[in-house]
Amino acid sequence: MDKKYSLATTLVHSGRNKRVSQGAVNPVIQRASSLVFDSLADKKQATIKRAQQALFYGRRGTLTHFALQDLMCEMEGGAGCYLYPCGAAAVTNSILAFVKSGDHVLMSGAAYEPTQDFCHHILAKMGVETTFYDPMCGAKIADFMRPNTAVVFLETPSSLTMEVPDVPAIVQAVRAVKPEVVIMADNTWGGGVLFKALEFGVDISIQAGTKYLVGHSDVMIGTAVSNARCWDQLRENSYLMGQMVDADSAYTTARGIRSLAVRFKQHEASSIKVAQWLAEQPEVKAVYHPALPSCAGHEFFKRDFSGSAGLFSFELQQKLTQEQLSAFMDHFELFTMAYSWGGFESLILYNQPEEIAKIRPNIDRTLTGTLIRLHIGFEDVEDLICDLKAGLNRLKQAI
Ligand SMILES: *Cc1c(COP(=O)(O)O)cnc(C)c1O
Repeated sequence: MDKKYSLATTLVHSGRNKRVSQGAVNPVIQRASSLVFDSLADKKQATIKRAQQALFYGRRGTLTHFALQDLMCEMEGGAGCYLYPCGAAAVTNSILAFVKSGDHVLMSGAAYEPTQDFCHHILAKMGVETTFYDPMCGAKIADFMRPNTAVVFLETPSSLTMEVPDVPAIVQAVRAVKPEVVIMADNTWGGGVLFKALEFGVDISIQAGTKYLVGHSDVMIGTAVSNARCWDQLRENSYLMGQMVDADSAYTTARGIRSLAVRFKQHEASSIKVAQWLAEQPEVKAVYHPALPSCAGHEFFKRDFSGSAGLFSFELQQKLTQEQLSAFMDHFELFTMAYSWGGFESLILYNQPEEIAKIRPNIDRTLTGTLIRLHIGFEDVEDLICDLKAGLNRLKQAI
């Protein structure tokens, strides 16, 4: 779209031009490996124009992919969007595109565990060293910078413990030391909507689209939206790594995005209500929801985010035994135990303090109680609170 509309309007209207919809409301699902050239001149044109969404070969995308890429770029304000088979592939391929042997990466010490493991197991093997930093370090990140630092990786908010970093302070401090460093953010929680990473000076905004973009727990996809400076390198490296997603998943993701702004409103209202209720319960030590003052970085959340998602965590007063955990976790009627989040349904999982400590390298912050992570879906919020109340009652009896 040429005119600048507000985000909610963009989410409904972008990526639906006649070229990709062929007259329908939604883009066509174009399943293709082979794409036909009319002449040698036509083939040559497609080769030259490969950076501009030309139909060339299935691995470079079809009209369905182009529609989603256009939508993502307008939504996140980027120059290009690469699509990956899952969020983990988006994270790892974005980093790989900008490091070589001998380089150094600065990684949030509170990042998603598989992202940390990628640094330990894959980057280390390639001779790329990682330093993990406390996401609450702000401008002090400059102390960790080295002449060979190539990538600074943020995650906002952090996984599990939900700290919200001061992104502008980090970006400014990094650029002051070495302007050309590529700054990436795992922006999954905000869906590219609640936090406009590129407007804060981040070069590449990465999402596990599996979560909120798809929104219905039935498709895996990863996205990386890049500014103009980094786009060519990200695109060509990801292409060489053979990254691609099928047309049906791209279609489903675009369909999910149509309702993203509306879904976030409900996730926000319900999750804040549940979080506030939990904060008043004697069994709960602290609630880590970015919209509540008890969450580290709440002030940055208020300043930089336009709203809240449905995922947060809380710490219980004590560390539960296996029996106590089973008494609490095994009998919820509405909350189900499953990885992932971002769907229409509410989820619950837990982590023990020592498990959290293991995945918080270089961070001086220990939990004493069991951490419970909730995703608040679209059930009636009073029903959800009832379910949690029954769980806390079971816990009281088990302790
Ligand atoms: C789930 C998740 C990922 C990985 O996404 P997949 O689609 O499961 O590979 C990456 N980052 C964060 C913050 C996540 O929550």
